[in-house]
This record gives sequence, structure tokens and C-alpha cells, in this order.
Amino acid sequence: MLTTERPTIPIAKPELGEEEAAAARDAILSGWVTQGPRVTAFEEAFGHYVGAAHACAVSNCTTALHLALHVLGVGPGDEVVTVSHSFIATANVVRYCGATPVFVDVDPRTFNIDPAQIEAAITPRTKAIMPVHQMGMPCDMAAVLAVAERHGLPVVEDAACAIGSEMKVGERWERIGRPHGAVACFSFHPRKIVTTGDGGMLTTSDPKLDAKFRLLRQHAMSVPDTTRHAAKTVIFEEYPEVGFNYRMTDIQAAVGSVQLRRLPGILARRIELAERYTRELATIPGLVPPHVPDFARPNYQSYPVRVTADYPLTRDELMNRLLAAKVSTRRGIMNAHQEAAYAAAGPYRLPASEAARDTTVLLPLYHSMSDADQDYVIECLRGAV
Ligand SMILES: *Cc1c(COP(=O)(O)O)cnc(C)c1O
Repeated sequence: MLTTERPTIPIAKPELGEEEAAAARDAILSGWVTQGPRVTAFEEAFGHYVGAAHACAVSNCTTALHLALHVLGVGPGDEVVTVSHSFIATANVVRYCGATPVFVDVDPRTFNIDPAQIEAAITPRTKAIMPVHQMGMPCDMAAVLAVAERHGLPVVEDAACAIGSEMKVGERWERIGRPHGAVACFSFHPRKIVTTGDGGMLTTSDPKLDAKFRLLRQHAMSVPDTTRHAAKTVIFEEYPEVGFNYRMTDIQAAVGSVQLRRLPGILARRIELAERYTRELATIPGLVPPHVPDFARPNYQSYPVRVTADYPLTRDELMNRLLAAKVSTRRGIMNAHQEAAYAAAGPYRLPASEAARDTTVLLPLYHSMSDADQDYVIECLRGAV
């Protein structure tokens, strides 16, 4: 089983090809490379796909989340209720606003915010709630929104990983990003399902929020360069407030539009591979596949497995054994509160978050993964039993 010839099975692999390369080439040769017509086209396609009235492209999801909180008025002295159990950008964007992230523990089965613990974290200083659809698994938005409404707080969805994921609203399935809170923010980093190299998107139903995102992503410039470029008379722009340079380029957007067209096929294959893992893992004692709540249809941006005491190896031993067998894995999602940048503000009591990081392993899953490679990973997992 442990042949040295076998190439390493990666944890993930962006699905990019000739079509994306051709689209980037066209953008470069068009002579307009920064935010322009291709960004507009990508925004329209994205908004249509998720069912959002407005979609605003930015440089990445970190800048998207920062812009969302900033425009919702989060500032120095404020608090944002969120999770520690996430990529560190989730906590960092709260700090960018001069505010403090207040961490709520996760549901150990879904790795998502435990709605029952939100209320206790709310104080008079709370300005927003920011749940994460972690690894593409929709969080319990109905429960989060119920708490938010009781306290009159806006909800910003960190949907970095959740393009194509769906949640049940009444009897209907809706895509993450309609949005269901005030704003949803997506990432197009290569580790996510749709990539533009780097990139991000904010979606909202509120035209006022959208207009503010558009203004502030481009230095709060009153007249965008595209308008001045097309104008018949000279126009001078103004800068009514301090903005940011959070633009996406037309080269990125050109790639994104191709990726979005290919997304249904990419999703179908990911779900097929994930469901196969889930079926096989059910026959391996001690390994627990991801729990999918009734209201959720995940895109399986990652495939997390909990390693319990019934498995003969610890999580770390399993990761080492897989590495020796040329199978790349990653540990569970990190916790911001366990990093030096946040630890000093503690103590924190987040036992489910800590257990999730330390007993979970992410298995390889990507569009071009062959059945044979997946069989090999499963065989390695079974081999220890
Ligand atoms: C990847 C990720 C981000 C950051 O996205 P970037 O586009 O890399 O800035 C934020 N939150 C979560 C949950 C993520 O997984």
C-alpha cells in the first residue's frame, strides 16, 4: 500500500484550466485591467447565482468583511459577537474596526456557532453578530436571526467558504448569500471552491448598503474612473470621506465569471466525493463524518472528520500515518483565541472549539480527485483499524 512512486494526494486543488487562462488573456489585451466592465459582469452573474439583489466585488473576503462591519457602523469600543473557531480573518476584521470580537463556542457536530450561546454574549456595546458558514456548512441562520431580531442587531454572514451551499427557508431551498442576514461575504481564495487568485464579494438586499460598499471600496471617490473615462466633458471627482482600495481587478473577474459557469459541475463532483466518504466512514469505528442538519445542503468546501477515542490512533498519529502514505491532510479549523494575537485578551472558555481544532482532520477533496485516489485514502483510514 505504501508505494513511494505514488504522487502525493493534495488536500485541495483549484480547478483552473484553458478557459480561465483565455479569459485572463482577453482582459489583459483589452487594455482595461483594474475594476471595470468584467467586474460588473462578474457581479451580475454572482448576484444572479446566489439570488441577491446586489453583489459588490472586492479584493478578498477579509476586505469584504471589514467593509461590511465598517459600513454597519462598527467602531472603537464596540463588540461583535462571532466565533473563535474560524480562519483568523474573521476575528481580525473586528479588530480593524477598533472593536472587540466576543467569541461564542461552536456546536461540536457542525463546527458552527451555537445559537443557544449567542444571547449571553450580547452586551450594550454589541453592534453586530457575525456567524460563519464554516467549511461551507450553513449555520443555523433561523436561530441566529431570531436572537439578532430580538436585540435589533444586524447579521454579517462570513460565507467565505459557502458559495453554492444551500439552506432551507420554510419549504424552499435558498443559496447562501441571498443574503439571509444584512450582508454576506464570500472569498475567491484558491482554497475555496471558486477562485480568482484572490477576491471577495459582498451581497445584500439593501441598495443603500451596496452603494456605500461601492463608494468605499474605491477610496470614497465620488465619480469612478470608469465614468470619467467615458465622459464627454471633464469631470473632477471628490472624496467626501476616508475610503479604501479594496478593488477587484478585471483580470480576476474574468477568471471568476468562467469559474462561476463551471460551478454546477464542480459542486456535483464534490458532493459525490463527500457522500462517498460519508458512506465509507460509517463502516470505520471511531471516525465521525460531518453532520448535515436537515436545513443544510453543504458544498463540502472541506471534508472534516472527527477522530474519537474508539479509533486506534490519535488524530495526530493518523495525520502522520497519512503523510507517510503520501496523503495530505490538515488539522481542524484554527481558533483565534489560541493564537498570541488574541490569547492575551482572555481567559476564554470555548471547550468545543478547542476540541474541534485538536480532534478533527480534514481529508483530501477536490474536483479532479479520482475514485482510485479516494479509495486509497479510505484504505489508509481503514488500515489502522
Ligand atoms: C478564507 C476565509 C476568510 C478570508 O478570505 P480571504 O479571501 O482569504 O481574505 C475569512 N473567513 C473564513 C471563514 C475563511 O475560510
